[in-house]
Amino acid sequence: MALAFDEYGRPFIILKEQDQKTRLRGIEAQKANIAAGKAVSRILRTSLGPKGMDKILQSPDGDVTITNDGATILEQMDVDNQIAKLMVELSRSQDYEIGDGTTGVVVMAGALLEQAERLLERGIHPIRIAEGYEMASKIAVENLVHISQKFDFGATNIKPLVQTCMTTLSSKIVNRCKRHLAEISVKAVIAVADLERKDVNLDMIKVEGKVGGKLEDTELIYGITVDKDMSHPQMPKQIEDAKIAILTCPFEPPKPKTKHKVEIDTVEKFQTLRLQEQKYFDDMVQKCKDVGATLVICQWGFDDEANHLLMNRNLPAVRWVGGVELELIAIATGGRIVPRFQELTPEKLGRAGMVREKSFGTTKDKMLYIEHCANSRAVTIFIRGGNKMMIEETKRSIHDALCVARNLIRNNSIVYGGGSAEISCSIAVEAAADKYPGVEQYAIWAFADALDSVPMALAENSGLQPIETLSAVKSQQIKENNPHYGIDCNDVGTNDMRQQDVFETLIGKQQQILLATQVVKMILKIDDVISPSEY
Ligand code: ADP
Repeated sequence: MALAFDEYGRPFIILKEQDQKTRLRGIEAQKANIAAGKAVSRILRTSLGPKGMDKILQSPDGDVTITNDGATILEQMDVDNQIAKLMVELSRSQDYEIGDGTTGVVVMAGALLEQAERLLERGIHPIRIAEGYEMASKIAVENLVHISQKFDFGATNIKPLVQTCMTTLSSKIVNRCKRHLAEISVKAVIAVADLERKDVNLDMIKVEGKVGGKLEDTELIYGITVDKDMSHPQMPKQIEDAKIAILTCPFEPPKPKTKHKVEIDTVEKFQTLRLQEQKYFDDMVQKCKDVGATLVICQWGFDDEANHLLMNRNLPAVRWVGGVELELIAIATGGRIVPRFQELTPEKLGRAGMVREKSFGTTKDKMLYIEHCANSRAVTIFIRGGNKMMIEETKRSIHDALCVARNLIRNNSIVYGGGSAEISCSIAVEAAADKYPGVEQYAIWAFADALDSVPMALAENSGLQPIETLSAVKSQQIKENNPHYGIDCNDVGTNDMRQQDVFETLIGKQQQILLATQVVKMILKIDDVISPSEY
């Protein structure tokens, strides 16, 4: 907008078309925001739990992702609405902090918004609702601590950890193979964990995948993998106690520069040149052997003659290894990257307990496994699967399992899953509501109702009657004063989640409630939405 004056000095306003904004204010804004948040949450609701549905998402360039992971679905949905973006952010923060529970947190936030809408319609001020929610979330989080249990595990007793990872994986597409994957994830985390300091650096766990084979062939490698093979088929496929020369210099004689000319006009001259070349190769191989290398890893290629010589002199070699991988090998094996043969010394060699080449089934694919490296406890989870989509989804599921194992090592408190923790919190919040005088009481009640929506969604997704199932379980919890009753999604025959071994980490569940409350409070406090108009 701009103010201007005409030739007689009369003011007029120039409206630029681009500057027109749409604006929603007051209760209208809150309602529109709540509707947007609910819409996002409704999409994820059907994906919750072991019987949750999967989603297929297609990116603008045609890539297809099939997933059940809340954070991934939202990430790829490419939403436009500001509030929907907040929900995406919510799921992302749960993923970042905890790694699991990304669907649950959005379902919870959606339920809180739905309840807030009802309260707004009854004329309760948004700030009062927000305050009530805050109080209720405190009660719920305290109740979680109250019903949580410590559980013991150690480097030798990893069964409980495996069990928790299996709960996480049971709601994913890969659940057919959940025990195997859970065991791999736990072993990987234990391998890199510092149990004394209760710290796990997940960066030390590399998750790689290669199309082919079965999901069951997924394996844990105590070292690193390189997508390369030995340069000559007759070189040994397995080297124990390898001493590795890591070279960035080419295995070839120096080339004449363009401005020089080599004239070969007689057979003798050619012979001499050939012998010279051979001597070069010979010296290079000898140099490597002299320092004690039993394997050469080279950034550059070398020709057939050098390759043959290396094979003859019994010095296995790998060529065309990329710079990044070369660095990784150097770090893991404690070696140094050597740019010139003259600089090769025994101290610069990397060490690994075992280097082996592995070929895969009928395909000609080969990979190099460098295991039990001297300097690093880094491990690799190597995923196999029928197609790229499966491998990507497995990577995401393993990420969740790794995060759960890490969280348990940091804090070994657990609460039971299947909605049992939410039901218990709902009972606690409802009971506490009476103590609060004032309008906030309504918001606290509403919070309790919202907590119920997680077990309801679980029941609904498993084909059970949501309201009947929930009320039955809730009354059972109250009657027996036992917070372990939840929704029997898999029709096992008991709804005692302790017997079913369905549990989740305490910090994960607490985070879900806290994050969902925070976002909903934020949405409720917005009373003006100004956005560019749509045309
Ligand atoms: P998220 O992305 O939030 O982890 P999931 O789709 O993995 O969502 O579902 C997790 C929910 O499913 C949790 O509430 C968990 O307690 C519940 N759950 C997982 N396995 C079972 C089971 N076997 N029986 C009942 N509930 C389960």
